Amino acid sequence: MIIIMKPNASDEAVAKVTGLVESKGLQVHLSKGAEVTIVGVVGDKSKLHGSNIEISEGVDKIVNVTESYKLVNKKFHPEDSTIPVGNTSIGPGNITVMAGPCAIESREQLLETAAAVRKAGASFLRGGAYKPRTSPYSFQGLEEEGLKYMKEAREATGLNVICEVTSAHAIEAAVKYVDMLQIGARNMQNFELLKEAGKSGVPVLLKRGLSATIDEWLNAAEYIISEGNPNIVLCERGIRTYETSTRNTLDISAIPVIRAKSHLPVIADPSHATGVRAYVEPLAKAAVAAGADGLMIEVHPCPSCALSDGPQSLTFEQFDTLMNDLRPFAQLVGRSL
Ligand code: PEP
Ligand code: MN
Repeated sequence: MIIIMKPNASDEAVAKVTGLVESKGLQVHLSKGAEVTIVGVVGDKSKLHGSNIEISEGVDKIVNVTESYKLVNKKFHPEDSTIPVGNTSIGPGNITVMAGPCAIESREQLLETAAAVRKAGASFLRGGAYKPRTSPYSFQGLEEEGLKYMKEAREATGLNVICEVTSAHAIEAAVKYVDMLQIGARNMQNFELLKEAGKSGVPVLLKRGLSATIDEWLNAAEYIISEGNPNIVLCERGIRTYETSTRNTLDISAIPVIRAKSHLPVIADPSHATGVRAYVEPLAKAAVAAGADGLMIEVHPCPSCALSDGPQSLTFEQFDTLMNDLRPFAQLVGRSL
């Protein structure tokens, strides 16, 4: 439930309400907006029976939050969150572009890509060091060696760097080298991994599961935030449908739905959503138009030589063109790119 304070409620009145809630063994999450203060309550609210909280000084009303996700819920935190990561922040006002290869294949491949995406205007370098491949015989990633190249690329370019983590062991290694952890579609409901990512305190990009509903996705984010890590960004990367012309189907509607249900930023990944290079640009534009806070785009120095996801990867030149084409779209929605 949330306790909505009156617009003129004093700090003392807010402190009295939070003190009362905490004295019953419940958790309080305070959201102080420009207009109104909301006291979010997590726990068994029946413990508040008889406490007459609704008639406490400064209380406007009490609203029940029926969704099982609370801390990521917009009702708990009506203002959109901005998530600080590395030397930038993700959220309202910006289009954050994360670009790079599907997998880190070599030092040269990564450094060359980092320089190219930096020049084109990306603020993050992406690249997998632990690859969750469909086949166990496919390239599985360079693991810690790849993470070291990521750090080197960050030092060389000033880009923020993000890598997928697939296990608690990978988190332990990645936190030494990267600015942001990525939890991939296949692990969206790996609850132990979500808890570990929450405990790491490092910002997390949480991709939507291949067949996950939006509420399941938000509950996955709740696992991370409930461990004390509020720095979460969501990523819509396409869902499984009956359509076979594209690898997945980009659920554009997820962007405004997330906006309505959660305060967390949401970005889109048209590369994994389509699996087809030619469709990346139109869907990147559609995502920006729909209100996305950013994009994740796969870029490779030689897509036809890529060890994974070559068909959806852009060349450096194509990525540069995409960035130039996106700028007016970003401007139209009042964001900088
Ligand atoms: C990736 O970003 O490289 C990846 C594997 O994506 P997803 O988890 O969305 O399939
Ligand atoms: Mn990929």
